[in-house]
Amino acid sequence: MVEQTPGKVDMDKLVSLCKRRGYIFPSSEIYGGMGACYDYGPLGVELKNNVKKAWWKAVVQEREDMVGLDASILMHPQTWVASGHVEGFADPLVDCKQCKQRWRADHIKDGKCPACGGELTEARMFNLMFKTFVGPVEDEASVVYLRPETAQGIFVNFQNVQNTTRKKLPFGIAQMGKSFRNEITTGNFIFRMREFEQMEVEYFVKPGTDEQWFKHWVEERFNWYINLGIKRDNLKLRQHAKDELAHYARDCYDVEYLFPIGWSELEGIANRTDFDLKQHAKFSGKDLSYFDEDTKERFVPYVIEPSAGVDRSVLAFLADSYDEEKDKEGLRVILRLHYDLAPIKVAVLPLSRNEKLAPLSKEVYDSLRKCWMVQYDDAQSIGRRYRRQDEIGTPLCVTIDFQSLEDKMVTIRERDKMRQVRVPIESLKSTLGAKLNGEPLDVLPPGGKKWLGF
Ligand code: ATP
Repeated sequence: MVEQTPGKVDMDKLVSLCKRRGYIFPSSEIYGGMGACYDYGPLGVELKNNVKKAWWKAVVQEREDMVGLDASILMHPQTWVASGHVEGFADPLVDCKQCKQRWRADHIKDGKCPACGGELTEARMFNLMFKTFVGPVEDEASVVYLRPETAQGIFVNFQNVQNTTRKKLPFGIAQMGKSFRNEITTGNFIFRMREFEQMEVEYFVKPGTDEQWFKHWVEERFNWYINLGIKRDNLKLRQHAKDELAHYARDCYDVEYLFPIGWSELEGIANRTDFDLKQHAKFSGKDLSYFDEDTKERFVPYVIEPSAGVDRSVLAFLADSYDEEKDKEGLRVILRLHYDLAPIKVAVLPLSRNEKLAPLSKEVYDSLRKCWMVQYDDAQSIGRRYRRQDEIGTPLCVTIDFQSLEDKMVTIRERDKMRQVRVPIESLKSTLGAKLNGEPLDVLPPGGKKWLGF
């Protein structure tokens, strides 16, 4: 439930920037839009891919105890009976008798309609899963669901992965992909969507070691956001109260972020015990236990589940990096995105559209594009072009001027403090690479002249 202590950045500003610059558009906008569905534009798809890449690197690539998976969205319908979603994945709903708006009963504070103060109906349970049919006949026997979470694809593949990788406990499986929920209370941009992406880990452990691994994952996941630039003050952990926990869960923490709508869940980390594997064993009739070669014991592993949302992470990274500075020309809007997340890493900007500058500028652009997402821009004044790159979060701009034609040197200008350094073109790629990989800015590049602006 959302506390109303909004973060510093206004949601409308973010929505407008996202639309204006090609980060995020309303889905099927030319037809009037589709509620709580959004399309990622040319910059948005880069940012989203970078978020997913950073997550995969942290939870799969850099760990020897993790492997990946990409399960299908449509699953055997029994999956959702076993997982409890058919029975219990429902929100209590109330309707306003006066203005007819629909609300989640657990979001209502004083028993009245938040929009008009009108009287509300009794709460009814509403299942959040989207139903559809496989094959040509639309009957009960052909009902399938669009998955409301990615996690179940992992549980049903536990034996496949364990048999093929010979992984010993503790080990985990990571998966990211689309999930679908027929959400009721929408309207907070990409915070709550009907079609969204999740990044989930199921980490299987020996019972008895679960608390220690739970702690490990809470810390890991919290620090992931900090390491990617989220300000410490805007992030907190909230432990679920006993009456909030699912009946099978031993413990659960939410990583909460101070979104423009207030402190809200960004990721949940739960100790789900052996509930999921036992349920699937029961409903499938398959043995999903694990044999410990060392102790010769057979048991059903416990599981720790860090479950994050890609879109909520994108929103948090955008909100957290948004900044404004007053300057001579008015307002400088900056997205201070972590370099790993920035959609465009380098912009190549000839000082002017003068045709003498074009060949060298294009040559630089062509060579850099092989390494990173690079933009070329020669329209309008150089000042405006820097502003444009600042607003989309591009960390480094390379400017080619008339002197470059003589001395084969170009200027690198960085986003955050607008410092500049002149470097030989021959060491441009290695300099940009080093800076983008986190080398401190004040380390002078080979052949470079002192940074300006320190
Ligand atoms: P909420 O209480 O906000 O509905 P939840 O507790 O139902 O979220 P989980 O089922 O734990 O969410 O899902 C794990 C993560 O998936 C969430 O922390 C969130 O980042 C993301 N997520 C869940 N539902 C949505 C949605 N409708 N739109 C965008 N992201 C979502």
